[in-house]
Amino acid sequence: MTDAYTKFVRSAPGALLAKRVGLPRPARLPRRGDRPGPVLGPVVVLGESEGADQVAHELLGWGADVRRRFEELRTVGSVILVLDEVSTPADLGRLLLPLAGAMRTLAPGARVVTISRPARGEDPAQDAARGGVEGFLRSLAHEMRAGGTANGILVTDGVGPDAPGVIGTLRFLLSARSAFVTGQLVTVASEAGSLTEDLEQPLAGRTALVTGAARGIGAAIARTLAADGARLVVLDVPGAGTELSRLANELHAVPIQLDVTAQGAGERLVASLRERGLRLDVVVLNAGITRDKLFANMTAERWDPVLAVNIASQIALTDALIEAGAAGAVLGAQPRVVSLSSTSGIAGNRGQTNYAASKAGVIAFVDALAARLESLGGTANAVAPGFIETEMTARMPALTREVARRLNSLQQGGLPADVAEAIAFLSSAEAGGLRGETLRVCGQNMVGR
Ligand code: NAD
Repeated sequence: MTDAYTKFVRSAPGALLAKRVGLPRPARLPRRGDRPGPVLGPVVVLGESEGADQVAHELLGWGADVRRRFEELRTVGSVILVLDEVSTPADLGRLLLPLAGAMRTLAPGARVVTISRPARGEDPAQDAARGGVEGFLRSLAHEMRAGGTANGILVTDGVGPDAPGVIGTLRFLLSARSAFVTGQLVTVASEAGSLTEDLEQPLAGRTALVTGAARGIGAAIARTLAADGARLVVLDVPGAGTELSRLANELHAVPIQLDVTAQGAGERLVASLRERGLRLDVVVLNAGITRDKLFANMTAERWDPVLAVNIASQIALTDALIEAGAAGAVLGAQPRVVSLSSTSGIAGNRGQTNYAASKAGVIAFVDALAARLESLGGTANAVAPGFIETEMTARMPALTREVARRLNSLQQGGLPADVAEAIAFLSSAEAGGLRGETLRVCGQNMVGR
């Protein structure tokens, strides 16, 4: 799906004009299936710590062409900067500047990933260096070219740079699956989780529920999880029954028609799962609506349904699933909950006080839910999409839509599949070390942090 402007600037006359007057020229983003291996090589692993050696060793195990210096390389596919032992800001230049001279050798769709530790409020010089890595990374992402991305992994003190969550996140960020994720830092807070042997079907043997699955991002999530090997339960309102059955047939999925805001919806979901003998390993809380209005014109008719669908239903459904667990499991071991937030929930958006309240609520909710699921060996995280090409955004006024599309480092809208890929990652065994994270899938949209 390519928008009209992008088609024009990719034509010969369009490219010439765009270059002359300095218009954005969005690159073609590599996606699943566009690359043969798990990582674009050669991969250069920079860093002086033992962690850097461990990461380089891990990549060799993937069959990657791994180097520890840029040497005379004319093209570089991926760069990993292992900065877990920086202790003062003076360390940064020595460790980072070798990449400066190699920036022009980065291949189209290249990946840069930093691995560092979050500031912890104890040692001012060390925290300044750790914080410095984040500022560096976010700026570098703005300077990447030709569909390249730059992201960071923050590894909490006490967690090894070779923990499953770190390696799993690294795999995701290096792959074409993270095409629309850039300028982001993901925290790995524990050694939990395990690495998947089967990279083609990481969700094989797992059962996943997707709410709001009949169309848009929900349908893309269901398709991606199914392609990753999961058995699907797809849920949507009775009014979307025809689209839901079509999707269920396509994916050999179990359809459930249910309004998630209905009285007792959680208990009805539990009853449906029990009837069919299903146990959920993955729960994707995607159903969501907008009822935009300036706050001066806001009414309960617009406010209440948005809060009810986007956040209250998520609390009710997860409460019912967790409580039912005690009396006969409907949740599998190590359950993964992934919820849909939005960049509006991070930065706010004019006309969206109701929506932003619900989506900021999601960010805080997954954090608390992750703590609750920990005793079950589970975790909860969220994804915050930016501008995604869906029916929802197709309804925006043309000029607003065109501006919104370009306001990110990749200068284009994301696809529903990009959101789905991030959700598939957060649903996997590899993401067990991520707790209450909100991962933005927004091309580094210029809003919020
Ligand atoms: P969409 O309107 O195309 O699809 C939403 C789906 O949810 C529909 O199938 C709808 O029937 C279902 N749904 C709505 N209310 C429901 C209810 N009460 N019970 C069960 N199902 C219900 O929307 P989308 O663009 O695919 O968005 C999916 C999610 O992503 C939403 O949570 C949305 O807020 C979020 N999001 C979207 C974007 C974007 O750019 N499209 C950006 C940020 C976040």
